[in-house]
Amino acid sequence: MSPAPAKKPKGKPVAGGKPPKRRGWRLLLGGPSFFGNLATTVLIFLILMSLYSLVGSLAQPSSDIPLSAVASDVAAGKISAITVNGDSLNVVYADKSTKTSRKDPSAGLPETLATYGVTPAELAKVSITIQGQSGFEFWFITLAPVILPLLFIAFFFWFLSRQVKGAGMQAFSFGQSKARVVDPADSSQRVTFADVAGAREAKEELFEIVDFLKSPKKFLDIGARIPKGIILMGAPGTGKTLLARAVAGEAGVPFFSISGSEFVEMFVGVGASRVRDLFQMAKKAAPAIIFVDEIDAVGRVRGAGVGGGNDEREQTLNQILVEMDGFEPTEKVVVMAATNRPDVLDPALLRPGRFDRRVTIDLPDRRDREEILKIHARKKPLGPDVNLAVVAERTPGFSGAELYSLMNEGAILAARENRKEVTQYDLIRSIEKVMLGPERKSHLLTKKEKELTAYHEAGHALVSSILPNADPVHKISIISRGRAAGYTLKLPFEDKKMQSKKQFLDDIAATLGGYVAEEMLFDDVTTGPSNDLVVITALARDMVSRYGMSEKLGPIAFGERQMGNEPYSENVAMQIDAEVSRIIDEARARAKEVITTHRQALDAIAKELTEKETVERSEFEKILIANGITPKKREEEGIVIAPSGKGDAT
Ligand code: ADP
Ligand code: ZN
Ligand code: MG
Repeated sequence: MSPAPAKKPKGKPVAGGKPPKRRGWRLLLGGPSFFGNLATTVLIFLILMSLYSLVGSLAQPSSDIPLSAVASDVAAGKISAITVNGDSLNVVYADKSTKTSRKDPSAGLPETLATYGVTPAELAKVSITIQGQSGFEFWFITLAPVILPLLFIAFFFWFLSRQVKGAGMQAFSFGQSKARVVDPADSSQRVTFADVAGAREAKEELFEIVDFLKSPKKFLDIGARIPKGIILMGAPGTGKTLLARAVAGEAGVPFFSISGSEFVEMFVGVGASRVRDLFQMAKKAAPAIIFVDEIDAVGRVRGAGVGGGNDEREQTLNQILVEMDGFEPTEKVVVMAATNRPDVLDPALLRPGRFDRRVTIDLPDRRDREEILKIHARKKPLGPDVNLAVVAERTPGFSGAELYSLMNEGAILAARENRKEVTQYDLIRSIEKVMLGPERKSHLLTKKEKELTAYHEAGHALVSSILPNADPVHKISIISRGRAAGYTLKLPFEDKKMQSKKQFLDDIAATLGGYVAEEMLFDDVTTGPSNDLVVITALARDMVSRYGMSEKLGPIAFGERQMGNEPYSENVAMQIDAEVSRIIDEARARAKEVITTHRQALDAIAKELTEKETVERSEFEKILIANGITPKKREEEGIVIAPSGKGDAT
């Protein structure tokens, strides 16, 4: 039925993309660890407190006899020796028994005994040893109440500042920027332009920035103004983050990065203070690069949303603008940002003096794809039969991240079969895996479901083959993959840069082919084609409201209608809906006509599919020919000339 939508959904997380390296050290304490520290210190404090009271209680042994008894025993000559230890007395009697007692700590023993009426002569018979309190105990007991809290506070500050210094920064702030820093000296994390394939134009633009960061003096001396802000625009996975890091790597400067999405869940005010910290740190480390990834998360058009909840985003954005405006011309800090939604950015960001340099990164063309594959094949032993040019040719519309994950899947397949080398077959199988998700061999269809799926896919394939502007069929299968029960893989002959209205209309009809076949043959419709319907509805709506492809409404881009943001009237909204319905109705009628006219071919394709489950292009074309249909021709078999547009599965 229909797995991948006809057009790749924008902003989908890049499947299998290399996980971002997050090994750069943390700069300052994050909020949660601050409270973690507090808890630790409180705990330590409590332990010290209980220790203190324990020592205190040890220092007060219960006295055996009152001091008056000691005095009368001295007078009676029963005592041979007394050892004085602070205020406690150890009394040794003539019969060698010992007792303890206590005296007033401020007065000496002889004076004390004298007040009890002991005469000096009586006292002289007793040998008195003054031990004095053990130094530690005395000092501890007297000074602890003063010293301990001081120690505790000192420790707390030392603990905090150690973390800050550990990051090599003197800044001491609770505003914590969560920025990650890539140190230019750390070669394991260093990325250079050699790690980025293709993107020639982007690299050329960025060379200038590298030059400036390497020798800023040369530029400043001659009075040249270097752009403060560069924004990288491009589809997900095209290597924006990679390129930004490569600029830092080439120039050998520290790279401070933070992602716009991290600001979103923060408390009001925190985002702004993080931005301030980030800029401050970068200025100290200058020359340096600040990189704000996914800037659209904070940089959306202000005031467009409904109600509150935007305050934080707005404050963060404002702070970024304030910081950029506050740059001295001599500041050697370059701010880079990346987005895959340049259309939603606040125009204030793009004004001169801010992100006024725009660098667009396109999906790689065939040659670039081959280069990207080569880069990611560096550490993988490839078998002698591997031909990366062929893999590149079969992957129009793949992003760099998808090519990376293709190479990776290939290596996984080889490893799973205990082979030491990756073969061409591993890579070819991985193309479909990356495009559609893994095969689900365990997903068994009933006989009825199998037949229905076969007719559904045959419907897609047949309509694609008949309508002149639809992409040719590459492969059909009723083996489930990802969410789909079956799939028809269509690959355009060439990488497409633009799509025409006629192509869209034929695409919609081909995508409806599955639905129409089910409806005509089984006189019923299943939930199977629901995704097909989502795709065509979105496509038809875009045709009318974005691309000006409706004759009735004309060449107007209407924009999106949301609560609180209504760029057109209710009346126009109704007209758009009516046009969308008309486009879909007409496409449905055309699909019906194709299927009715070529019913025999449909049956033949469905039969073959039910038997074999997967039908490759050559077999498929044989069936077409047998039924009097001429398959679409490639100009020169196997060679694709122009460069983008992904193989579709419907
Ligand atoms: P983006 O930020 O545009 O979404 P990334 O820079 O995160 O894309 O790219 C993800 C991964 O895809 C990179 O780490 C890299 O492995 C691979 N990649 C993308 N583009 C390229 C390229 N032009 N050359 C080499 N590898 C690439
Ligand atoms: Zn389908
Ligand atoms: Mg990125």
